Amino acid sequence: MFTIDDLADRLGGYLPSEEIQQVRRAFYYAEQAHDGQTRRSGEPYVTHPLAVANILANMHMDHQSLMAAMLHDVIEDTGVTKDALASQFGEAVAELVDGVSKLTQITFEDKAVAQAENFQKMVMAMSQDIRVIIVKLADRLHNMRTLGALRPDKKRRIARETLEIYARIAGRLGINTIRVELEDLSFQAIHPMRAERIKRAVARARGNRRTTMRQIQTSLQRRLDEDDLTGSVVGRQKHLLSIYRKMHDQRKPFAEIMDVFGFRIITDDVDNCYRILGAVHNLYKPVPGRFKDYIAIPKANGYQSLHTTLFGPSGMPIEVQIRTREMEAMANNGIAAHWLYKAGQTERPIAVGSHARAREWVRGLLEMQRHAGDSLEFIEHVKNDLFPDDVYIFTPKGDIMELPQGATAVDFAYTVHTDIGNSCIACRIDRHLAPLSTPLESGQTLEIITAPGPGPISPGSTS
Ligand code: MN
Repeated sequence: MFTIDDLADRLGGYLPSEEIQQVRRAFYYAEQAHDGQTRRSGEPYVTHPLAVANILANMHMDHQSLMAAMLHDVIEDTGVTKDALASQFGEAVAELVDGVSKLTQITFEDKAVAQAENFQKMVMAMSQDIRVIIVKLADRLHNMRTLGALRPDKKRRIARETLEIYARIAGRLGINTIRVELEDLSFQAIHPMRAERIKRAVARARGNRRTTMRQIQTSLQRRLDEDDLTGSVVGRQKHLLSIYRKMHDQRKPFAEIMDVFGFRIITDDVDNCYRILGAVHNLYKPVPGRFKDYIAIPKANGYQSLHTTLFGPSGMPIEVQIRTREMEAMANNGIAAHWLYKAGQTERPIAVGSHARAREWVRGLLEMQRHAGDSLEFIEHVKNDLFPDDVYIFTPKGDIMELPQGATAVDFAYTVHTDIGNSCIACRIDRHLAPLSTPLESGQTLEIITAPGPGPISPGSTS
């Protein structure tokens, strides 16, 4: 079993002993406060905050975040007050715990207004201190890892909320290691059979591809060595949900998705990134139109990298990402990379930049909130900002449905229920009759008109 001593050992790698001592103190306090409480698994409750702190330690978060992780359920579950925490551990830690507790009380239900208000609460909590949401993400991650024996419907509800809210926020903050794990755990909870099938197919495909992967890796690495370019080439794996989404949204067969070979090349500096790009384009011809320079133009969450696709041996596509070590840390940890470098005492401009961008984002949300006329308008703004690729459609009752960009009323009908999909004959968009094939736009209210019968009228549906 993982203990506080194990954690303290790990922290020794990046925190001064005085701070590690404070983390220990928070642990013992939590252990006492939760005394007698157990998790569903039967383990003492304190194993949970300890695991949450460990997730943050892997991201090299600061000691206050770790202390808040230890204490994050104390106010909620044991009746200890915020003031008591403040006098024990200082104002900053007490504020963090209070912020996390407030987030914990929020559940995202389907009702639009309740959801809008919850979004507002969440933005408020984040705006006080961005570490609140990082601790909360780690908390959710550990809960997802230990969903275990929950009732299937409860499991699915938590998984949906994780996918729709927390994984997105992790993505928006660039914390990709957490985003990817949250996505895969949610996918497995919502669609256990599909996840299992894809997992098995991936394992099989990986076995078959191993030789080819190694050959390409060797030839890329050899080219770098020949050109005196420092850089290491590693193979890249897609995660379960990203495979499933490609199959589902782009209607691609599994074999075609697995046909792409992914590599990442990590080097020291930006200059080398472009030199390496030249070298690999020289080795294999690039696929026209696939090159992207996210170094010159970073993504909104701070992600930086060069992306290119090459025609590999016998024409197989090879996707290559080229980036520096700092960019790699950013790509994995996003905003949390800020603390990673702070702990190392060397403030790197890139990590500082990411922190500034995240603050900018939260500030922007607050600004929106001031200008938005009501909660629903606000949630529309936030959702557009968090989920730019989706459209949000209101049902006549005011529920919000999320659909991919380009979705039509028929997609909407099937999202509501298969029976409605099968029996829809027309629709009203904002109360006007419209063809079922009209692409939907965010904010529209959509009503589906159904009739018993064979389903949407389309050529060939006569059987
Ligand atoms: Mn918790």
